[in-house]
Amino acid sequence: MSNRLNDQDILLLRRDTPGCENVIHFNNAGTGLALKPVLDAVKDHLDLEAGIGGYEAAAKQAEAADAFYANMAALLNADSSEIAFIENATRAWDMAFYGIDFRPGDRVITGRSEYVSNFVALLQMKKRAGIEIDLIEDDAHGQIDLKALEAAITPKTRLIALTHISTFGGLINPAAEVGRIANKHNLLYLLDACQSAGQVPLDVREIGCHLLSGTGRKYLRGPRGTGFLYVSDSILDQIEPPFVDLEATTWTGPDRYVLKPNARRFENWERYVAGQIGLGVAAGYALRFGMEGLSGRIIELGALLRSELSRCDGISLHDKGLRKGGIVTFLRDGEDPAQTKARLAGQQINVSVSAATSAQIDMPARGLDALVRASVHAFNTETEIEAFVSAVHSG
Ligand SMILES: *Cc1c(COP(=O)(O)O)cnc(C)c1O
Repeated sequence: MSNRLNDQDILLLRRDTPGCENVIHFNNAGTGLALKPVLDAVKDHLDLEAGIGGYEAAAKQAEAADAFYANMAALLNADSSEIAFIENATRAWDMAFYGIDFRPGDRVITGRSEYVSNFVALLQMKKRAGIEIDLIEDDAHGQIDLKALEAAITPKTRLIALTHISTFGGLINPAAEVGRIANKHNLLYLLDACQSAGQVPLDVREIGCHLLSGTGRKYLRGPRGTGFLYVSDSILDQIEPPFVDLEATTWTGPDRYVLKPNARRFENWERYVAGQIGLGVAAGYALRFGMEGLSGRIIELGALLRSELSRCDGISLHDKGLRKGGIVTFLRDGEDPAQTKARLAGQQINVSVSAATSAQIDMPARGLDALVRASVHAFNTETEIEAFVSAVHSG
């Protein structure tokens, strides 16, 4: 069986994506257009909560909620005990990062395409604990420079924190190559896989990361307000959850508690149960379709969109990277990105704008203050790309 999606697969993907009928959705890096099976699972659970009570609904649906762990683990090639459900990717990343006992002079290695919230957390830790940030330059392709990264490692280095796929461009960082360096030097490696989960196959063993954070709502097309954290069993005792509660621990006596023996110690009790069920369904959907096929098509459509836009006069492309994914950034001469977005919205075409305030290390240095971001998914079509390019170009 070929991994390549065929016409039948794409028809099925579109049938499972009701919003396809209303919009050309090229904002999957913002939120992937909802999957019907996910939507149904979330709605059904909310109805059940209304019908019989929230605790009672959770008890009845315990298996469906548990399926989240098994499905997410399978998607990442992890063990289900290594998966935590967290309310979004930012908090998932925070639970890992703020769980490291940083000392003054400790060093953290990161790259130019690091996500805004991660970077401001690094800055806060610099102020609070006196860490130093080692910002690794891009190589000639615009991905993190592996030689420079290895050369930056010192005895004080505590962590490599890397964003796998940039939120503001096509760049796919060489996550597994970074993992080999991290493991060679016995360094903790935290990968932000927010844009990569559901966009490219992820295998935590092959990548060699010890911690990986992701969101539900983007390329996985899970519900908003859901996220997850992978914590390798091998480093569980090297970090301490920055917050603990009745879910993360067992209170064993008036002056004692024990942490959960696995990644669940990074969770907290109260949660969006319908969302957890929905995210489990989304992960299961990606598994059933196969990440190879989905990813192949996303990358192919991204490349097609870039090549079609590059043929238009007055349009410049701005994606970095040796390998590029489904996120395409561009500018139309004489038109502010916000104007392009608004003009396209008037034609039921969804894109978003990436601004320098989300990319202070990257965009100003390239002379950019904003870009139009068009992000395609496997359910998008060549016909939509054609319509998109003509809408961008004309009008
Ligand atoms: C969207 C995004 C996040 C934040 O995800 P939330 O679920 O909104 O917290 C983190 N990192 C990257 C690279 C992202 O694109």
